[in-house]
Amino acid sequence: METTVANRLQNIKASLPLHVTLIAVSKTKPIESILEAYTSGHRDFGENYVQELVDKYAQLPKDIRWHFIGHLQSNKAKYIVPFTHLIHGIDSLSLLKEVNKQALKNNKIQDCLLQVHIAEEETKFGFDASELEDPATLNTLATFSNIRIRGLMAMASNTNDTEHLKTEFSDLKTLFDTLKTHTIPNLNMEILSCGMSSDYPLAIAHGSTMIRIGSSIFGEREYKH
Ligand SMILES: *Cc1c(COP(=O)(O)O)cnc(C)c1O
Repeated sequence: METTVANRLQNIKASLPLHVTLIAVSKTKPIESILEAYTSGHRDFGENYVQELVDKYAQLPKDIRWHFIGHLQSNKAKYIVPFTHLIHGIDSLSLLKEVNKQALKNNKIQDCLLQVHIAEEETKFGFDASELEDPATLNTLATFSNIRIRGLMAMASNTNDTEHLKTEFSDLKTLFDTLKTHTIPNLNMEILSCGMSSDYPLAIAHGSTMIRIGSSIFGEREYKH
């Protein structure tokens, strides 16, 4: 059988435990590929770039649940808050403050994930675990009435070293479980978003409930230089 976007997506989906949600990461990919996945029944899509997400939102069916998984600059939050289902990459309180302001304007409660820095690479964004365990951070978070934190998001190191990846994923799970014990009304630790094409089985084995898969569904990405 010919492998198409829809085949690859449905094969991955069929292999997942029921509690794991698959986000199809469609960044840089054309509308036609997204529609192919959509027509096969998929509704959760992830994008990294604000302009690209806004353009795709305008052109595609309105029952798609859009996940913003990239690095969000505060001044761009206003473009995506009106329609985005879940913002994964919240990496500072100042960004959260701006998202809260935009959510208030749009009369919605914006679901968000806090991005945690777990990888060795300096370039990956996110809070340090210690910042999220700090009561001051959690107290500030509690004041954002139009934000609901649904869980954590992370990107593991770009390595084949399985033992190293296991350590990163299990540290993340420990932090997730610790935050679960807090009784802050707008902090609901239900979603653990980690795992990409290269490492998702390991992420699931360590408690991931949401995986973000791009190249294994849509093929390798080509970037314009
Ligand atoms: C691009 C991207 C993915 C998907 O990566 P693949 O390796 O193509 O599966 C997942 N998460 C984030 C944050 C990304 O930027």
